[in-house]
Amino acid sequence: MKTIGLIGGMSWESSLLYYRLINQGVQQRLGGLHSAELLMHSVDFAPIENLQHRGDWEGASKILIDAAQRLQAGGADFLLIGTNTMHQVAPAVTAAIDIPLLHIADATAQVLVSNNVRRVGLLGTAFTMELEFYRERIERHGIEVVVPDLHDRQMVHDIIYQELCLGKVDDDSREVYLAIIDRLREQHIDGVILGCTEIGLLIDSRHTDMLLYDTTEIHAAQAVDFALQT
Ligand code: GLU
Repeated sequence: MKTIGLIGGMSWESSLLYYRLINQGVQQRLGGLHSAELLMHSVDFAPIENLQHRGDWEGASKILIDAAQRLQAGGADFLLIGTNTMHQVAPAVTAAIDIPLLHIADATAQVLVSNNVRRVGLLGTAFTMELEFYRERIERHGIEVVVPDLHDRQMVHDIIYQELCLGKVDDDSREVYLAIIDRLREQHIDGVILGCTEIGLLIDSRHTDMLLYDTTEIHAAQAVDFALQT
């Protein structure tokens, strides 16, 4: 089994999900007391959030490159960045290490393609919904990406940073998200990408009949596959 290197802490609420999902995945595949070989470098999220909101992606990339190099030096065979947003700096991280990085948007696009999804809604931070790095990576696979309008994007973004990253799961916020999904539905989408690793704390398939693609689950499952490939 390969050793997974996870850059976590963005936020640690979602790192908990990664840890559980990856270990459950390995146990389901290998049975018994099997669990994942995994190293995590969990960063302090506050300075990173500050750099994001100032648009200082170079500053943020330095922190992630340092984390990635430490994981590589510690024996990780491949790397995950446990957040969609910080894949903005994935090219810089990839260039600074020798081990593969499993990109969260590629993992998600592969699932969308295998489910024949042609047009998909995207919920995530404003960075993920508005900057090129994420949408372009999905669109490369021939899938159209639809995002909410400005007002709805702001609400999705604020709930992520002010609630979900702090572990606060609020029923009213769930209703806000479900209403936004219903407005996206009017744009004839085949499903919605939960493009932020904490959104699964708030909504899942029990709350809507819209097909949801939870990037944390998809990314963790791909890591398990890759770790167990011979
Ligand atoms: N975990 C979130 C994501 O998947 C947001 C936190 C961050 O800005 O990294 O985008």
